[in-house]
Amino acid sequence: MSDEEHGGLDGIEEAYEAAEIEQESKRDELLAAWDKSKRAMTGSIVSCPVCHSTFRKTRQNQAFCPVKSRKCKDRFWNTVNDERRERAALMNQ
Ligand SMILES: [Zn+2]
Repeated sequence: MSDEEHGGLDGIEEAYEAAEIEQESKRDELLAAWDKSKRAMTGSIVSCPVCHSTFRKTRQNQAFCPVKSRKCKDRFWNTVNDERRERAALMNQ
């Protein structure tokens, strides 16, 4: 019977790990898409790393779609920065 309880806990841990991996792969995907968008030439058509809409780059350092209301830049950095904040906290210890 205690085995069953233990299995339950393992299940929770596994689900938690799966969620973490999913979060991490989403971050990797975002970073890869951002890098690709950032490297594209001014004037070329690129896909926004966050909302995946296509747009023409008007500035070399533009990486997100120009639709301000979508807040793609904010959403991107919020997702990516979680890990950075953790790393910074570790380094400050
Ligand atoms: Zn966008």
